[in-house]
Amino acid sequence: MRHLYIHIPFCHRRCSYCDFNTYANMEHHIAAYVDALCTELAMLRESLPPLPKSPAAAALRPSIFFGGGTPSMLTPAQIERILIAAAALVPLETAEISLEANPGTVLGRDYLRDIRSLGVNRLSMGVQSLHDPTLRILGRIHTAAEARASYLDARAVGFESINLDFIFGLPGQDLADWQATLTEVIAWDVDHLALYSLILEENTPLYAQVTAGRVQIPDDDLTAAMYELAMDLLDKAGYRHYEISNWVRPQPDDRPDAPPRLACHHNLAYWFNSDYLAAGAGAHGHLFPQRYANIRSIDGYIAAVQAGHRPIAETIPLTPADLAAETMMMGLRLDIGVSFEHFAARVGDDLIEHYGTTLHELMQHGLIAMDDRRVWLTERGRMVGNHVFAHFL
Ligand code: SF4
Repeated sequence: MRHLYIHIPFCHRRCSYCDFNTYANMEHHIAAYVDALCTELAMLRESLPPLPKSPAAAALRPSIFFGGGTPSMLTPAQIERILIAAAALVPLETAEISLEANPGTVLGRDYLRDIRSLGVNRLSMGVQSLHDPTLRILGRIHTAAEARASYLDARAVGFESINLDFIFGLPGQDLADWQATLTEVIAWDVDHLALYSLILEENTPLYAQVTAGRVQIPDDDLTAAMYELAMDLLDKAGYRHYEISNWVRPQPDDRPDAPPRLACHHNLAYWFNSDYLAAGAGAHGHLFPQRYANIRSIDGYIAAVQAGHRPIAETIPLTPADLAAETMMMGLRLDIGVSFEHFAARVGDDLIEHYGTTLHELMQHGLIAMDDRRVWLTERGRMVGNHVFAHFL
């Protein structure tokens, strides 16, 4: 199955914690940017990756993911143009088509209905917090009530799947605040939740505020307790914790040894370490044996495409050892872990022969478990995932 990431690098204003490749007050470039995107998508027809050999990866839906930035700043007509250009790369009829939406942008029911009628079937909304003072510190352009209203509008319009993103470990947040947020969201009966701990990125206003002591954030122990609380409450509410940071409402046809139907299939392609195309300023594609990164600036990206070039800033070669390590590090993020069949099909080697000593050591420490088909992280391993992943490098 083929997967395509499309980057939309525009935001109304930058959030205080954000270091994504996105720009505020550049709306006047959107029309030219959409033209350039459509041209780049036509160029990508020459670079289609082979279909995956792994049965698990081949079983995923094809996918298009509009990420950002704030893709919901595009008009339905602009989204339609991009989808028409993308149709030569990914079959739209069967694809999961996700779009990241910011509750602060104009997300009325008419807009949501229009983009759904174009084929967007999965909406991912960055809510981040349900506490208005915290949203203000984060520089978000919406209130908690607006986020809830946008979610209910999306629900009413009938999206196949809706994800909400939240951050924990936020300035001033304590365990009781986080519990209140989780309890409210569980009551909304959301299909899919992505919960991330705050990463303080250098060169962001929030980093400067925290290092200057003007804003306090929870320490590592409290942040870990928030993660454990999320695991506990969402488990009791019936969610499946299918990836380290992602939970989903199980569906009747879900199988425990396969990804859930309402999982994000685009992200599953990353976790299966599949190849994927990417278009847009600063977008990263993965076509083994290489990864590529596009030009980050909007001007530079548009100029390169207008000059008739692929807008690639950097190509990074990948070795078979990289492929093996990344297949493990990405796959172990999933509750189903990495199957021997998937590893052999993707890497062309036997998992036990390749990593036998490492797997044995991690099992002895209770960080992974294994049966005759697959290897996966234990509950303890999930708490120290990065430590486990480092063993495969
Ligand atoms: S809306 Fe998202 S991409 Fe835009 S500035 Fe905020 S965090 Fe960054």
